[in-house]
Amino acid sequence: MNKQFDVAVIGAGAAGMMCAAVAGQRGKRVVLIDHASRLAEKIRISGGGRCNFTNLHASPVNFLSENPHFCKSALSRYTPQDFLSLIKRHNISWHEKHKGQLFCDDSAEDIIRMLKAECDLGKVQWRMSCPVTDVQKADAGFVVQTSHGDIMVDQVVVATGGLSIPKIGATDFSHKIARQFGLKIIEPRPALVPLTFDAAAWEPFVPLSGISLEVDIETGDKKNKMLFREDLLFTHRGLSGPGVLQISSYWQPGTPIRINLLPEVDLAEDLIAAKTTTKKNLANYLSQYLPVRLIDGLLTAHAFDGNLKIADMQDKRLRLLAEKINRWELTPNGSEGYRKAEVTRGGVDTRELSQQSMMANKVPGLYFVGEAVDVTGWLGGYNFQWAWASGSAAGMAV
Ligand code: FAD
Repeated sequence: MNKQFDVAVIGAGAAGMMCAAVAGQRGKRVVLIDHASRLAEKIRISGGGRCNFTNLHASPVNFLSENPHFCKSALSRYTPQDFLSLIKRHNISWHEKHKGQLFCDDSAEDIIRMLKAECDLGKVQWRMSCPVTDVQKADAGFVVQTSHGDIMVDQVVVATGGLSIPKIGATDFSHKIARQFGLKIIEPRPALVPLTFDAAAWEPFVPLSGISLEVDIETGDKKNKMLFREDLLFTHRGLSGPGVLQISSYWQPGTPIRINLLPEVDLAEDLIAAKTTTKKNLANYLSQYLPVRLIDGLLTAHAFDGNLKIADMQDKRLRLLAEKINRWELTPNGSEGYRKAEVTRGGVDTRELSQQSMMANKVPGLYFVGEAVDVTGWLGGYNFQWAWASGSAAGMAV
């Protein structure tokens, strides 16, 4: 059978569009297939609709993987500056928010339009609303079975992403295809996700819902400790906000997280010294550091009387309270799951892939890119940078 295309890219999201554009512009005949009717929904909803499209400080330390060196090659060959050049070429206005995070000034749609235009430049053919049911090895190349018929190609790039947000079309297709071809999968789980707590244990903190503040948040033991200084948000079911999302990627079920609600103050020392310098009661005194609603909630939840004068309190009680604020230890019972997770941790084991090309070592011609692969970025534009870098690496290699 005559092959109409050299390459099929399955999944027209961030990594898939980048890969198709790069391969198409190299002269490859590319077909880009997606089961969704709307293009790149995840880009559209990203960054609150403004797409945090990269991070100026992206480096391998910002990524989790069972094989942490794998991402180095692709990240070094397609950098945040490379993506920024593309953005500038398309006259998209952007701004830096904080910590190197770059966002569109107007809308994430700008990024989708740009990638679409880059694909058009590479004469990429589109198959949208076109579920892919299977990929089979043929004598020469692959047969991609779709609801619109079979497509014969030399090479296949799987760019169908992870499992987060199934309601906008996330599937386990990449994992299924990897398993079918005998490739190992690192057990996937939700990451960059709000954490939840046992309902009874959380009840005293429910009134704090909606409060947000900058904290130090950490997880892991001495050897593997991970710490972020970011905002935390109290919710009805637990904790969210950037700090919690970051730590959720590292958190292991059954283990505690530790939160310092007042990272700049050694509260035990401060409270004990205050016994001789202030006549204030506990709640009043703490209000110089923390929002009143948070203090009231915390004192009630930890059974402290805010009306007590600090001078009348025992050092031991003050130290206990300080520990609840400077080193609050609590154990989540789980997370909000793929419904709310921004990304999926785990995926195709990178030891199965070439770090240069993203091709499966034991299946020549079959590639995996983007979130499908066991490389997960921090919150802050890192996941898109991985999508661009891995997509570009495969696009250059096919
Ligand atoms: P995706 O972009 O998910 O694309 C996969 C594509 O494959 C989809 O179009 C899907 O329809 C298609 N597909 C799936 N299964 C099939 C199938 N069987 N057949 C055909 N097509 C299929 N990252 C950042 O860096 N910055 C941000 O601001 C940011 N914000 C986010 C906000 C939210 C709410 C979420 C959920 C994620 C956010 N992310 C952000 C993460 C980022 O969106 C992903 O890491 C990135 O989109 C992954 O790119 P990908 O191409 O691998 O997968």
